[in-house]
Amino acid sequence: MLELLFLLLPVAALYGWYMGYRNAKKGQDDVSNKLSRDYVTGVNFLLSNQQEKAVDLFLDMLQKQENENDIHSDSQFEASLTLGNLFRSRGEVDRAIRIHQNLVDDPNFSFDQKLLAKQQLAFDYRKVGFFDRAENIYISLVDEPEFADNALEELAKIYQKTKEWKKAVDVTEKRQKAFPQSNNIELAHYYCEYIEAEELSVKEQKVLLTRALEVSPTCVRASIELAYLYMREQDFRTAIEHFQAVLQQNSAFIVEVLPHLKWCYQQLQDPNNYELFLIKAKQRHNSGAVELALAELTDKNSGAAAAQAGLYQQLNHIPSMDIFNRLIQYDIEQAEDGRAKESLIRLQQLVENKIGQSFAYRCSHCGYRSHRLVWNCPSCNKWETIKPVDGQYQ
Ligand SMILES: [Zn+2]
Repeated sequence: MLELLFLLLPVAALYGWYMGYRNAKKGQDDVSNKLSRDYVTGVNFLLSNQQEKAVDLFLDMLQKQENENDIHSDSQFEASLTLGNLFRSRGEVDRAIRIHQNLVDDPNFSFDQKLLAKQQLAFDYRKVGFFDRAENIYISLVDEPEFADNALEELAKIYQKTKEWKKAVDVTEKRQKAFPQSNNIELAHYYCEYIEAEELSVKEQKVLLTRALEVSPTCVRASIELAYLYMREQDFRTAIEHFQAVLQQNSAFIVEVLPHLKWCYQQLQDPNNYELFLIKAKQRHNSGAVELALAELTDKNSGAAAAQAGLYQQLNHIPSMDIFNRLIQYDIEQAEDGRAKESLIRLQQLVENKIGQSFAYRCSHCGYRSHRLVWNCPSCNKWETIKPVDGQYQ
C-alpha cells in the first residue's frame, strides 16, 4: 500500500504541472475547475485509503493529457514514463510496453531520456516473461554508468529464472566488482547452483565454494557443501571444521548438520570433542536438536533418569515437539504393561502423526512453510531465509 502511495506522489505532482499547462494553453476556466475538482477528489481517495479509485482517476487524467498534448517536453516525457509505470503496476503490461516503446522510438527525446525509457521497457518485458527481449535491452545498458548497477541486477534475476547459472555468476561477479557488497549471498548461491547443475571436478567445486564463502562469509550452504566434499574424501577433521562453521554463520541451521557431525566424530572415535561442540552450541543457540543430542550422551554416560530430568527442564525453555516426543518415549519404556502404557503409546502416535504432517522449515522473511530445505524461497525469492523450525512446529 505504501508503495502505491509513493507511486502516486509523482503523479500528483505532475498533475499540478498539467493543470498549469492546460490553463495557459486554453485559458478555459471551466475545464481547469473540472480538473482541479478531479484532482481534489483523487487526493481525497488517497487520504481515505481508496487507492484503486485514486489510481483510476489519475490515470484517466494523465490519459487526457496524452491525447491532447502534442508538444514534447521533459515534463511530458516524465508524465508518459509514469503513466507506463502505473499501467505496469496495475498488471496492464501490454499498455506499459506500448507507452515505453513509443518513448524509446520518439526522435524528439534525448539520449539519456531514451536510456531511461529503455530501462523501463526492459522491466516491462521481464515482468511479462519476455526474458530474451528484456535481456537484450539490459545488456545494452550495462556499459552506461548510471544504468549498469540496475541492468546487472536485473540480468541476474533473469538468469536465475531461466536457470542459466554460469551467466548469473558472470553478471553478478561483474556487479560485485563494480559495486562491492560485503555479504553477497546471491552470488554465493549462484556458485552453489552452478556446481549443482554442472559436472565439475572436486577441485573445481572446492575453488567455487571457497569463493562463495569469500563473497558471503555467512553462506551456510557453501560450508555444508564443502563439508560433504571432505566427508566423501574421508577427511573428517576438515569436514567437521566446515560443519561447525554453521554455528557462527547461522545457528538456526545447526539441526541440519548435527547428524553429519556426529557421524564424523564417530569415524574419528572422538566422542569428547563431539560433546564439547554440543555444549558450545547449547550456549549459543536454544535448539531442541542440540538438547536431544546432549540427552543421548547423558543417557549413555549417566543413565536414562538423568537424561530424562535434563530434557524435562529444557522443555520449559524450548517448546520443542521433538523433546516432548522423546519424553513420552522414556515414559513408555519405564511404564509397566497395562492401560497406562497403552494410553502413552496412543499419545505418542498422535504426537508423531502431528510431527509427520507439520512443516519442518519456515521462511524467516515471509513465513512460507516447506517440508524440505529449499535455499531460495519460492514465495519471497530470498536466499537462505528458509530455516529449520527445530521441533517448534506450528
Ligand atoms: Zn520467503
